[in-house]
Amino acid sequence: MRCTICREKLPHNTPRWWRQSHYQSLHADYARSIGRWYRNFFALLGPFLLALILAEYLWFSYGGFYVVIAGATIILFIAFCIYEIDYLLR
Ligand SMILES: [Zn+2]
Repeated sequence: MRCTICREKLPHNTPRWWRQSHYQSLHADYARSIGRWYRNFFALLGPFLLALILAEYLWFSYGGFYVVIAGATIILFIAFCIYEIDYLLR
């Protein structure tokens, strides 16, 4: 893979690419903000997925009013994903 900032070729691919020494030494601020983004994203993703599963479960078990909660949770989840990805690509 190549560096997303200066296009320099990097020695190896890692899932946590911003931890590579290239980013740590040359783009430290960028590496820090990406690291923070990933931490926040996964910290919020966990509770969100739990809420989503719970809402779906209530919906399938009891139906009726829970369809509103399940729908709202899905819309919130999609909005959250779009917002986070948009932030990352900025
Ligand atoms: Zn670079």
